[in-house]
Parts: sequence; C-alpha cells; structure tokens
Amino acid sequence: MSPTDSNAMKAALEYASRGWYVIPLHSNEGSNCTCGNSKCKSAGKHPRINDWRKDATTETSIIKAWWTRWPSANIGIVTGRDSGMVVVDVDGDEGDAAFRRLCAEQNFMPETLTATTGRGRHHYFAHPGVEVPNSARTVADGVDVRGDGGYIVAPLRGIGAALPTHGWQKTSLCSRPRTGSSGARATGK
Ligand SMILES: [Zn+2]
Repeated sequence: MSPTDSNAMKAALEYASRGWYVIPLHSNEGSNCTCGNSKCKSAGKHPRINDWRKDATTETSIIKAWWTRWPSANIGIVTGRDSGMVVVDVDGDEGDAAFRRLCAEQNFMPETLTATTGRGRHHYFAHPGVEVPNSARTVADGVDVRGDGGYIVAPLRGIGAALPTHGWQKTSLCSRPRTGSSGARATGK
C-alpha cells in the first residue's frame, strides 16, 4: 500500500469517526474510470458497491476492508440525516457569484467546514432536522444541495491531517443557511 492509499483509508476512517457514513467510489486512472467503461459519465465519482444507501457505514472494519481491497478508491460521504450534515456544492465562477449573492442577501456568512473541490467548494452544514432534498441548480446555477439520500466526493486527506491545506478549511459545522432548495427559489434571478 502506498502512502497515498493509506492516507485515503485514514481519511475515510476519520470521516466515519465524525459520524459520517462513507462509501468507496471509483477513481480515475489516467483519463479512465476504474469501472472500465471508457465512456463513463461519472468518472471517479460513482460507488464501487451496489447498494450504497444500504451499505454505507461508519464501521472501522468494513472501511478498512474496502480500502484494502480498493486502495485507490475515492471517498464518498453520504449526506443527510444519518450523517447529521448537508453540503452546499458551489461550482465554478458562476456558482461562486451566485452563492456570494445569496449569502449577502440573507446576511449569512458560511463560516463552516469547507472543502475545496476541482472547480469550487463544498460547504458542510449541520443537518437542520427536517428533510433536505437534493437539488441541482435549483438554488442557483452552480449551487447544488446534497441532502437526504445524496452523497459527495470528499477529499482524500482527512480534516485533521489536512488543515489548513490540502482542501479543508474550518473545522466545525454551522447551521444550514436559509438558502435551502425551497426557500431560495424566490431569490433566484
Ligand atoms: Zn465509471
């Protein structure tokens, strides 16, 4: 096992220790997805297990077995009530502008655990206790919500190992903004 692989396992275990349910995802090998489909539309982002909703886990032994079997697997974290958090996915310049505008309108500062992604960032918020549907581009273009029944691709370095670099900022979750998928439509353009 390479040091990088062991970091992924460590990160998955750390996420689980926070009570977040994790799943192993396919990864990219060069320009190919490890699923073997050369036309994969979700390269490196879809689950390696069949029934991720049922088999997502916080169990150390299962997580170790997954990342021993697939050392390069990307890490998925299930969002929603069971994990106790929801994620706002801000993508690209468009998403950044829209999210800043929404925050300004609602006088809200996203001082919460945040992971940088390929094109943007994931803001992690405490689950509000009422159902949070998943949405894509409902809040605004480039702003998606991963709530109950969703998952996100997490950094391969854990929060403890990563701060203040390697993709994570802040350490704790604040409450979800009022820019949820239902309330925010009126504030869209
Ligand atoms: Zn694939």
